[in-house]
Amino acid sequence: MTNEQAARIADFIAPLRVEPGRRIVLPKDFDPGFCPPGLTKETGQEQLQRGIEVLAEYQDRLAAQNVYGVLFCLQAMDAAGKDGTIRHVMSGVNAQGVRVTSFKVPSTEELDHDYLWRYANALPRRGEIGIFNRSHYEEVLVVRVHPEVLGRQNLPAHAHEGIWKRRYEEINNWEKYLVDNGIVVVKVFLNVSRDEQRRRFLERIDHPHKNWKFSAADIAERQHWDAYQAAYSDMLTHTSTSWAPWYVVPADSKWFMRMCAAAILGHTLISIDPHYPTVSPEVRHQLAAARAELESEG
Ligand code: AMP
Ligand code: MG
Repeated sequence: MTNEQAARIADFIAPLRVEPGRRIVLPKDFDPGFCPPGLTKETGQEQLQRGIEVLAEYQDRLAAQNVYGVLFCLQAMDAAGKDGTIRHVMSGVNAQGVRVTSFKVPSTEELDHDYLWRYANALPRRGEIGIFNRSHYEEVLVVRVHPEVLGRQNLPAHAHEGIWKRRYEEINNWEKYLVDNGIVVVKVFLNVSRDEQRRRFLERIDHPHKNWKFSAADIAERQHWDAYQAAYSDMLTHTSTSWAPWYVVPADSKWFMRMCAAAILGHTLISIDPHYPTVSPEVRHQLAAARAELESEG
């Protein structure tokens, strides 16, 4: 990776990043259908392949160095493409170095703890890339859109006061703590349009191999589209920080979305710049002695 290549990736993803403190209103501020003029699907897919190779190389170094971990959070509306993005973007990476966690409706055990508990339990180790397929941000999204979900969290009365603003602060502080301790946090919102979600639902209904991905509850959730857009807007406004930025990725084109996600994760790893550990003169000595011994056997 040359400096020019690294700079090209940084420039490419810069417009997707939410500047800390910027007030975001969806869908006006980010177009789900955006694609750079002149970029063809063929070129985009080549770039994705290149990105996948970069990830494989840097993940190997990340594991060898064993100092930093990376937490890659994926958030999106249903059918935006979280699963497919993970499948494609991580296709070249050593499975031993990746830990994917999908967050569903919380279990009773999870509800018996504070709301960040289950996410803290799933964090990547040093040397690993952890992917959250849905994340702690559900705690200010689905939980906000559905007050009955918050009701199940058994919070003390005082914890309800100014709850969303406080959760933003708590999440920002938690992420700061992680970053300060070597767990690099990067967050991606796959921004699909309402029309495109409709098309993808229809596809899931029409293709027998995709039926399993569709549930009647998806239609019920879709009725809350505007409430979700508002919750996402507020979340992006308050939780994109200098230490853990949000990126908003246009999701109406699958190949462009995947290319962007690979670029963002690639940029994160390049910025960490992990190195293979170098051995001390003493260990080098031991290696030479071992080699001499092995050779003498022949
Ligand atoms: P899926 O990603 O399609 O497998 O669905 C997972 C479901 O779990 C979604 O409907 C989410 O809204 C729901 N979910 C995820 N996290 C939470 C949470 N913290 N509280 C309530 N529901 C959640
Ligand atoms: Mg679903």
